[in-house]
Amino acid sequence: MLTNPRLVANRQKLFGNARAIVSECRSRGIAVAGVTKSFAADPALAEAMVEAGISQLADSRLENLVALTHLPLPKLLLRLPMQSEIPEVVRYADISLNSELDSITRLSQAAVAQGRRHQVILMVDLGDRREGVLPEELDQLVRSAQGLPGVELLGIGSNLTCLSGVLPTEAKMRQLLQLTVDLRRRYSLALPLVSAGNSSCLHLVYQGLMPAGINHLRIGKAITLGREAAFGCRLPGTHDDVFTFQGEVVELRRKPSLPDGEIVPNTFGERPEFLDQGERRRAVVACGRQDIDPGSLFPLDPGAAVVGASSDHLVVDVTESREPYAIGDGICFRVGYSSLLAAATSKYVKKLTV
Ligand SMILES: *Cc1c(COP(=O)(O)O)cnc(C)c1O
Repeated sequence: MLTNPRLVANRQKLFGNARAIVSECRSRGIAVAGVTKSFAADPALAEAMVEAGISQLADSRLENLVALTHLPLPKLLLRLPMQSEIPEVVRYADISLNSELDSITRLSQAAVAQGRRHQVILMVDLGDRREGVLPEELDQLVRSAQGLPGVELLGIGSNLTCLSGVLPTEAKMRQLLQLTVDLRRRYSLALPLVSAGNSSCLHLVYQGLMPAGINHLRIGKAITLGREAAFGCRLPGTHDDVFTFQGEVVELRRKPSLPDGEIVPNTFGERPEFLDQGERRRAVVACGRQDIDPGSLFPLDPGAAVVGASSDHLVVDVTESREPYAIGDGICFRVGYSSLLAAATSKYVKKLTV
């Protein structure tokens, strides 16, 4: 039975994180869509989020929402729909984020054809330059999309930080709110939802700086990692070790810390620099960039340090460790976001829930 490498999820800790964040948001009038994409929408973990009080289940991949069909909450598709998946979007998602009139029109046609209603959140780009129309284009999009049969304009949304690292500020949030308020008045629309963003908005919530009227966030990272995403600060009452990754030691030898020879870029086009620390005790661990991102993997053993990784080999310096490592032992790590994404989607990594 192959058991390494493995990604171990602690359901109770995930539940605790979701409950702490949902409670904080709820006390400030904000509903939370629980985002499941970082753990490939594992149903047991999604259920823990549901128990913790999230309002919708959200994912960017339709396949993941399909896997959650049995859970009784509205499903929110986070990535703008592909035209090639429109009928399935209407069938499996109750709500989607949109910025293209052509896609909304097709959603409308599919909804009518299936006898269903589909709710749409219109996305506005507040500066991160990923999805969304520019603020001055929003009026035209609302005017064209309102009244399409089968679709309901549920609200206005934005997303920051993900692509360009633009920080959600109180001013950006006020801008989003003002745009929504103006549209409500101009078109006599309810537009009940103001969906301000992702885990990078939580610092505003926790500092009491989120303007009243912002009433929806889409939160994944903070629930899985126990940190807000703008500054990486730990959130009170959460765990940062919901997920742990374990790899198995296949070589353990003392070697010089410096490479020997002429240097060209490595497999990944990088030229890593190494400090001369003399001879070190190094473990080769049987996993690699197909399964983790070495820059987002943190040994639980304080005496161990990640040196680097290629596709299938991870090198860990264990010179300072007090653990009596041997070949065949596991080394455990806390994961950052990119390692969690990679491990959750690598078919070579066994998934366990405790
Ligand atoms: C992934 C995603 C989120 C959730 O982001 P986290 O940083 O995991 O909280 C929210 N909105 C959209 C559009 C996303 O793609």
